[in-house]
Amino acid sequence: MRLTVLGSGTSVPHPRRSASAHWVEAEGGTLLLDCSGPAVHRMAEENCDWAALDAVWVSHFHLDHVGGLAPLLFGTKHAPQTKGRRKPFTVFGPRGTERLLRRFDEAGGYQLFEQPFPFEVREVAPRAEFEPLPGLRGMTLSTPHTSESLALRLTDRQGTSLVYTSDTGFTEALAGFARAADLFLLECSFFRSKPVKLHLELSEAMELARLSGARRVMLSHLYPEWDDVNLAAEAQRLWDGETIEARDGLRLKIGE
Ligand SMILES: [Zn+2]
Ligand SMILES: [Zn+2]
Repeated sequence: MRLTVLGSGTSVPHPRRSASAHWVEAEGGTLLLDCSGPAVHRMAEENCDWAALDAVWVSHFHLDHVGGLAPLLFGTKHAPQTKGRRKPFTVFGPRGTERLLRRFDEAGGYQLFEQPFPFEVREVAPRAEFEPLPGLRGMTLSTPHTSESLALRLTDRQGTSLVYTSDTGFTEALAGFARAADLFLLECSFFRSKPVKLHLELSEAMELARLSGARRVMLSHLYPEWDDVNLAAEAQRLWDGETIEARDGLRLKIGE
């Protein structure tokens, strides 16, 4: 698997960090982890083949994670690049994903569900297994953030695994869920003294890193207060494994 960070930031406008989106290339195709408003154009900016994108994973319904979903479908419906496309496109997400998209669709009469290619929304329950791409296994875990929010564990045929928490508060269940992951992609909204319970600060993220036994950790969903902090150095003080600071445009190979 290969990962490209499209958006390492949050809902707060920032000159170098756009809102949540991570691009995953696997043997069976490509999968976008969350689709923020900026993600639609960030894909093109990073030369990601957006017209051939196979699937989107929606972790929860906050707008810094789904704000680009309707615009993406508006794009694929009308862009010359997707006119000849016939392979299916699927949006996977928690219960309520279809309702959210239908409401948006109805508000403007866009007919987003009628695409030049087969399109469907598939809702996934907590603790469910599904196949987001051929040969790629997905597992979900309910997280303490919103009522619908889900973490995702992806495992390919070689056994390489990526765990994406998306937004979450602290729960030890995440460490078990991410056991020995090749890459544990964690949110780490705040450095310290977090102002809200339902996000993570560095000490909590590093505690999860330690408990999980993950091979490598990447911290994303970084609020602007991180601008003045040496993230890798601060992480090293709390956990001696490799912690990578997500940056927009960062590319990484996961596993061997
Ligand atoms: Zn968020
Ligand atoms: Zn959120």
